[in-house]
Amino acid sequence: MLVVMDRGATPEQVDKVVKVIESRGMTARPIPGGDRVSIGILNNRGPVDPALFLGLDGVKEAIPVTRPYKLVSREVQPEDTLINVGNVTIGNGYLTLMAGPCAIESETQAMTIAEHVKQAGGHIFRGGAFKPRTSPYTFQGLREEGLKILAKVRETFDLPVVTEVMDTETFDVVEAYADILQIGTRNMQNYSLLKRAGQSNRPILLKRGMSATLDEWLMAAEYIMSEGNTQVMLCERGVRTFVRHSRNTLDLSAVPVIMRESHLPIIIDPSHAAGYRDQVIPLSRASVAVGAHGLIVEVHHKPDEALSDGAQSLYPEQFEALSKWAESVHKLLKT
Ligand code: PEP
Ligand code: MN
Repeated sequence: MLVVMDRGATPEQVDKVVKVIESRGMTARPIPGGDRVSIGILNNRGPVDPALFLGLDGVKEAIPVTRPYKLVSREVQPEDTLINVGNVTIGNGYLTLMAGPCAIESETQAMTIAEHVKQAGGHIFRGGAFKPRTSPYTFQGLREEGLKILAKVRETFDLPVVTEVMDTETFDVVEAYADILQIGTRNMQNYSLLKRAGQSNRPILLKRGMSATLDEWLMAAEYIMSEGNTQVMLCERGVRTFVRHSRNTLDLSAVPVIMRESHLPIIIDPSHAAGYRDQVIPLSRASVAVGAHGLIVEVHHKPDEALSDGAQSLYPEQFEALSKWAESVHKLLKT
């Protein structure tokens, strides 16, 4: 249920609606809009009777919400969410390029790649310090040392940084260093991690689980938002299919559906979808053309020596080409 207030509704009238909701054991979530306030109702077991609100002063209407997710839904917030990180705005009208290595391996490696990313027009630097690896015997990341290197990249190149947070135990330290916290595909349904992310004041980049439906993905975002964090972006990174020519299959059809259902920005990760660098530029062009709000791609100056995901990492000059392509496709969309 969404209670929509009159244009001139007073704060007292909004408070009254909140009290009525709370007196019934439900949670009220006021959503300030352009010219009127709406109040979302959470924690209701079963349908809520609109008559509870229609008689109250300042209430315009009470709309039953039909989707299982609410706060992420356009039914509750019709306008697109814009997220500001440093000088970068992410969301409708903008195309944000996030790029960097899969993992932070050393200060020299990160600084070398960051310089290329900055020169090529990248807006945000990516790099994993805590790495979720399929094998426990492979490189697991530099942990806090990697975070310190990311902080140095931000300072030197004026690039906000995005890095993965893997668990609640290391959440505080990652949160202290990162500008955007990434929740990886393997953790999309880690509900304690999602709840902790919801209590953070950092924007969250929520990757789609590799076998998750769109409803499951949006419900994962709902977990974060229901704890109070409204700065959530969704990231499509390919799903498991039967194909052998790529690591995963990039589900571009998710983009128009997500955009219809949700006001949250959607970013595409063509690197983890493809697994091979020769597919990354074509998939990036397609991602921008389908309307994504940004890309997150892996770049390495010596991919053959990379400690993770070298085969899908672009050479710096390829990222430069991608950046130009992305910009021209984005311009074309606006005409
Ligand atoms: C990554 O971004 O390096 C990563 C591990 O991504 P995903 O969770 O999509 O596999
Ligand atoms: Mn990777």
